Amino acid sequence: MGMRPSELWGRFDWQSGSCFRCEQTNVPVAEVGEIAVAGTVLPLCACQRCVFRLEQLHWTMSERAVRQRNAPAPAQPLPLGQWPTKVPFDRPPSHVA
Ligand SMILES: [Zn+2]
Repeated sequence: MGMRPSELWGRFDWQSGSCFRCEQTNVPVAEVGEIAVAGTVLPLCACQRCVFRLEQLHWTMSERAVRQRNAPAPAQPLPLGQWPTKVPFDRPPSHVA
């Protein structure tokens, strides 16, 4: 599933600003999300190169998520009391006490 950069960039509104990712200033940036700082929501803007990279990451992660959904369920972890030692967990180890 490929997408040409021009197609991808056409889906965003570009304006001059700073990129949150590579920290370039006065470059065309697009809003790619938001970040909450001390109760204030600020837009996150990224430049064209970083938007492209973030899209690639997004693809990679969604494909990975699909693979994981299709993979057999992982083995159940051992109950805590059995791992990995026979020392009971109801008191600290002797070297702590
Ligand atoms: Zn950037």
